Amino acid sequence: MDVRWQRLIDAAHEAMEHAYAPYSNYPVGAAALVSDGRIVSGCNVENAAYGVTLCAECGLISELVRGGGGMLEQFVCVDGRGEILMPCGRCRQLLAEHAAPDFAVRTVAGTTTMEGLLPDAFGAVDLRQRGNPDSKGARHE
Ligand SMILES: [Zn+2]
Repeated sequence: MDVRWQRLIDAAHEAMEHAYAPYSNYPVGAAALVSDGRIVSGCNVENAAYGVTLCAECGLISELVRGGGGMLEQFVCVDGRGEILMPCGRCRQLLAEHAAPDFAVRTVAGTTTMEGLLPDAFGAVDLRQRGNPDSKGARHE
């Protein structure tokens, strides 16, 4: 296995250990390599009002933006047993907003691209082409 992938898996596992998942008992951790070399991570944070629960990717994206932004190059997500998970549909959209052109996601079957994860994703280009012509779009475009 690529050393960089192992570093990300370890970071995701470490993040998972901080998860707040008292209702599902299903802790999740996510980690990503940023284009500037940083590793950002997040864990799921449940809530008694289930609908406002945050996936691990939410914390990861918040750390990315809080740390100055940048683009995600590699991403992995793990469960409480350290098994690789696929991001949920909502989080695929979160990742698409910040994915580098050569973004790679670790899966149980190897790696895939952003297009493989969320084909024909809605993005800032769609807003400019079909929505508000004054939209500045993503900062990193
Ligand atoms: Zn999610």
